[in-house]
Amino acid sequence: MSITKILLISAMVPLMFVARACEQSEPDSLMKGDQKNTKKMKEHKFKIQKSEEEWRIVLGEQEYHILREKGTEPAFTGKLYDNKQNGIYLCAACSEPLFSSETKFESCTGWPSFYKPLADSAVLEESDDRYGMKRTEVRCAHCGGHLGHVFPDGPEPTGLRYCLNSAALDFEAE
Ligand SMILES: [Zn+2]
Repeated sequence: MSITKILLISAMVPLMFVARACEQSEPDSLMKGDQKNTKKMKEHKFKIQKSEEEWRIVLGEQEYHILREKGTEPAFTGKLYDNKQNGIYLCAACSEPLFSSETKFESCTGWPSFYKPLADSAVLEESDDRYGMKRTEVRCAHCGGHLGHVFPDGPEPTGLRYCLNSAALDFEAE
């Protein structure tokens, strides 16, 4: 192996680590309390009930895909991941207030990230085993819309990272 190649490789290894550090989108999910949450989900009655046809009419194409089909918007493309204004984040489907700018933090994942919801009762959490990953899904407790996932690698005081889709949220500035 030539010296140039060795130098090139040694220069790239630390770069790969830096790239990985910012790539915290899919770590091990928050699994504790899953059973309890699943039970809670089954018993939960959503205040807003619409047929899929009705949701298709009121939501845009991307919003419908994320909120009703559990889709995920590409990282760094959403309207709110970099939003630093003070205000309240509402469910894009039913306008229920869900998160506050006070608990939003820079996660460098490319999705709006919060360490807790406005109220525990604002969201529902349910285990999600799709795509061979163990994750915990976050849904609006008012209408059942899929918002994103919660991971156990957030900052204090909760240690949680609610990693949400911009398209599942509306923002109301203070
Ligand atoms: Zn909702």
